Amino acid sequence: MRDVSKFLSGFKRFQQNYLGERKNLFESLVQQGQHPPVLMIACCDSRCDPALLTDCDPGDMFVVRNVANLVPPHVKATYFAATTSAIAFAVHNLEVEHIIVMGHAQCGGIRALLENRSPSCNEEELIAKWLGIAAEAREKVLTEFTRASPATIAHACEQASILVSLSNLMSYPWIQERVAAGKLALHGWYFDMQLGELLEYQPESGSFEVLVPNLETAV
Ligand SMILES: [Zn+2]
Repeated sequence: MRDVSKFLSGFKRFQQNYLGERKNLFESLVQQGQHPPVLMIACCDSRCDPALLTDCDPGDMFVVRNVANLVPPHVKATYFAATTSAIAFAVHNLEVEHIIVMGHAQCGGIRALLENRSPSCNEEELIAKWLGIAAEAREKVLTEFTRASPATIAHACEQASILVSLSNLMSYPWIQERVAAGKLALHGWYFDMQLGELLEYQPESGSFEVLVPNLETAV
């Protein structure tokens, strides 16, 4: 079993950086509380840490992470609704101005959604049910990309599922109201980890376009 010493030395660096060199920032976050302008909904994938990818400071971003960065549709009286509760807290209490749904390449959750295997145990059934939030994305992509490679289909489904989550966000009346009032903006981002690029959904073109290119690999 690998030990956790890497994380302890990482915490010591955090102490040096934020409790030492940037003491004022942390003191004000402790005294005045958090006021992040952004809610980020990202995947649990260990390669897609939103704060790391955007080089954020503590206090910059309220983060919700779940399998495949999905947002369930608005339904009444659900229990243990972790994602919905976090979104509600960010919108109602923190009054965030932006919600970013960030999907990514090589998403294991979306791969499982595409494989659509029959659950063999209760745990698999739970995951399949969760991934079912994006069933619409799966159907759409499999209908449109009948002859494409598995990688192309996966990319398309990863991006289509972001659109499902954005659409589901708009099913919450309190989000719809804030968007209509210009107090809240929704964004769909896609981290292409193979190319090292960040893409954003552009409603005008109906596609994901490069927002931050990887200048190291640009020709
Ligand atoms: Zn993922």
